[in-house]
Amino acid sequence: MSELSDLIICEYCDAVYQRPRLHAHQRANCRRCGGVLARPHLFHVDHLLALCLTAVLLVVFLGVSPVLVIQTQGQAHPATLFDAVWALTRGPTDLLALVAGFSVILVPLVQVALMSWILGFAHFRQKAPGFRGCMRTLTSLSPWSMLEVFLLGALVTVFKITGRIEVLPTLGLAALAGLSLLIIGMAGRDIHRLWDELP
Ligand SMILES: [Zn+2]
Repeated sequence: MSELSDLIICEYCDAVYQRPRLHAHQRANCRRCGGVLARPHLFHVDHLLALCLTAVLLVVFLGVSPVLVIQTQGQAHPATLFDAVWALTRGPTDLLALVAGFSVILVPLVQVALMSWILGFAHFRQKAPGFRGCMRTLTSLSPWSMLEVFLLGALVTVFKITGRIEVLPTLGLAALAGLSLLIIGMAGRDIHRLWDELP
C-alpha cells in the first residue's frame, strides 16, 4: 500500500495516481482527462518569496500611482485603481462597484498578504501559523481575482477611446500587468508544493 504522500489527485477529474518522478522539462498528464498532474518546479521557495516581495512593492506602487491619465480640455485627470472603482459608486453602478472593489482590490490584496505570510515562514523551513487555512483561502480566492480582466479593460480603453478623448497609459498600467502575472503564477500551482515540502 502506498504512503498517502506518494499519491497525487488530478484536480480536474479526481483520478488518483502514484506521484511521478519527473526530470527537467518533463510533465505528467492525467490519462483520463489530459489535465496537467505535475511538472518540475520553476522556482525555489526563496525565489517565490522574492517574487512575492516584488508583488508587495507593486501593490504599494499601485496604491498611489495612476493606471490611466485622461486628458480633457487641456486638463489631466489621473486615475488610480481605487479611483476607477470609486467612480463606479456614482450613479446606478454601485453594485458593480462592490463586485469590482472585491475582485480588483480586496482579493488581490488578501492573496498577496497570505502569500507573504506563508512564504515568509517557508523561508525558514516552517509552516506559518494557520497554514492550512491560508492555503485553502488562497485556492478558493483564485477564481475571484479579476486583476487581469481589469488590465484588459484598461488596455482596451487606451486604444478605443484614444481619438475622442486623450487617454495616456502610465507606469501604473505596467505595474498592474506585472502584478497580474505574479499573482496568476504564484497563487496557482507553484505555491501548492509547500504542502509537501514543509515539515
Ligand atoms: Zn484528470
